[in-house]
Amino acid sequence: MAEKRKREVPQLAPAVGIDLGTTYSCVGVWQHGRVEIIANDQGNRTTPSYVAFTNTGRLIGDAAKNQVDTNPTNTVFGAKRLIGRKYIDPSVQSDMKHWPFKVIPGSGNKPIIVVTYKGEEKQFATEEISAMVLAKMKETAEAYLGSTVKDAVVTVPAYFNDSQRQATKDAGVIAGLNVLRIINEPTAASIAYGLDTKSESTGEKNVFIFDLGGGTFDVSILTIEEGIFEVKATAGDTHLGGEDFDNTMVNHFVQEFRRKNNMDISGNPRALWRLKTACERAKRILSFSTKTEIEIDSLFQGIDFYSTISRAKFEELNKDFFTKCMELVQKCLNDAKMDKSSINDVVLVGGSTRIPKVQQLLQDFFPGKDLCKSINPDEAVAYGAAVQAAVLAGGGHEKLQDFVLVDITPLSLSIEVVGEIVAVVVPRNTTIPTKLEKVFETSKDNQTVVRFAVFEGESASSKDNNLLGSFNLSGIPPAPKGAEKFDVCFDIDANGILNVSAVHKTTGQKNHIIITNDRGRLSKEEIEKMVLEAEKFKFEDEEHKKKVKARNALEIFAYRMRKTIKLENITAKLPLADRKKIENAIDQAIQWLDSQPHAEAVEFEEKMEELERICKPIPKMYKGAGRPDMACAMDNNTPSARSGSGRAPPKIETID
Ligand code: AMP
Repeated sequence: MAEKRKREVPQLAPAVGIDLGTTYSCVGVWQHGRVEIIANDQGNRTTPSYVAFTNTGRLIGDAAKNQVDTNPTNTVFGAKRLIGRKYIDPSVQSDMKHWPFKVIPGSGNKPIIVVTYKGEEKQFATEEISAMVLAKMKETAEAYLGSTVKDAVVTVPAYFNDSQRQATKDAGVIAGLNVLRIINEPTAASIAYGLDTKSESTGEKNVFIFDLGGGTFDVSILTIEEGIFEVKATAGDTHLGGEDFDNTMVNHFVQEFRRKNNMDISGNPRALWRLKTACERAKRILSFSTKTEIEIDSLFQGIDFYSTISRAKFEELNKDFFTKCMELVQKCLNDAKMDKSSINDVVLVGGSTRIPKVQQLLQDFFPGKDLCKSINPDEAVAYGAAVQAAVLAGGGHEKLQDFVLVDITPLSLSIEVVGEIVAVVVPRNTTIPTKLEKVFETSKDNQTVVRFAVFEGESASSKDNNLLGSFNLSGIPPAPKGAEKFDVCFDIDANGILNVSAVHKTTGQKNHIIITNDRGRLSKEEIEKMVLEAEKFKFEDEEHKKKVKARNALEIFAYRMRKTIKLENITAKLPLADRKKIENAIDQAIQWLDSQPHAEAVEFEEKMEELERICKPIPKMYKGAGRPDMACAMDNNTPSARSGSGRAPPKIETID
């Protein structure tokens, strides 16, 4: 009986932790008493957060990144820099200058990404692009775990506001995930660190997390004591990271090209992309070498570009960014009301912390402290998210039993009062989940309607803060100003998501904020539509993969037979008539392949069967390892993650 029930329940994998990064994403799972970081189908433990649209299909991750220079306008990356923001946001406007793909304003001023997919123009919300990356991470985990992944913890920068968190959660839903919780990246990293040092730690420890990734910068101060993690303060910039360092180098070389050749390449997406790729590579080299070269053949109008850059020049170009990082380090200490001497450990997270100048500035700031680099900076966030996922999903893992995570709200939350100033209800760095109340009163005589406008930010003036939304309470009985009172409640859940309600004390009348409409967040209907779209895309991708598999199998077989039929021992054994028949069939199959680039999988399969039948007289040993294996070797999505082979399969898009 028990056995039977077991078979009826669809197999569900353990909850996973996903670090949804600006440039790279990473997925981990708690298994066998430890975190396992899962390699993707290319054997890589991090996956580029890239999505590409081609004439034949959609590519996500390494396959998308590998084809950027041939398809720059339809390859989308950096969606994390757009998510939850408005099109008119200055940071969106500035980023757009560096992106080869098109972004337009959509309804509610949401940025919309425009690409050409299968020859048609398609528009996507940022949540949909992030959902595609999340779906890829889900698939990566499923290929490794051999079962369906549903539950996940997803990380965001600590400095993400409510709208950015909501949008990230929506992206999870579109990807078919049940987002157990959104947690802050530095908090996740500290979990990784805390577990790492749990056995050797004695008493309370103050840990400074310095997380400089591809697109975002976060610093946090946490106290860790016997498995309890408490975030004391966070600071950061959602718009500062490795991509900015690449861009300053790109600008530097664009000017150099202009000087040398009197030509401006800044309007040419392909040239800019090739330069950016070279700059990113150079930047990585400069982390272990003091000088490096840039060599790009035929960069623009047939002109080659060769140059050099020193580590000193790179540091000078990015001086302002590095200074900003250190200012935010000090701000975080001020917020936590701590002196740097009370920090026990400084932890480096994010690929950009490999930059020697960054390490040196930190070392100078925290003299005498060793910088902790024991955690892989690219994986620490996913590691912590995987631990948190295991805790939330339950399952009684012995090692996780005493584990408690206390997170905080990164920005102060307030209500606007008379004179366009704000009254703070939830101060920045308040531990969440939390529920805080404050009493407000009418500001005018005979006031019958009261507007509650909710802001986030640190300025005393409402116009310098970010309006989260507003709602009215009407039908208040006329009375002198200050006579009517309201209880306003700010309720923040464990994901950092806010609900504000107000109750009129005498009548008991109630209202609360409807964040969905006011915040440019997707509506329930829009999300449902996107979930269906995502499923359609997945289906199309699978169909496309089947087609590529079937086509490649036929192509390989036909060309192999064309070679085989010319072998001496084959010609000697086969009667002439059979040989001619086989040769004709091979030629026909190859011609058919050339003339039918868009045939369906079943047509390729039928052709394959026909050719196999005609080639029957050829001994089996000359026919290769058999159809399925041949097809597999061409499959970009073969779950080689288990072996982590690092093999680079041929690109799917070659049949275009
Ligand atoms: P993350 O978002 O943490 O995966 O960080 C990715 C960023 O780290 C990208 O901008 C990379 O270019 C950068 N990065 C990775 N390795 C290095 C390195 N050795 N030196 C400088 N930057 C690096």
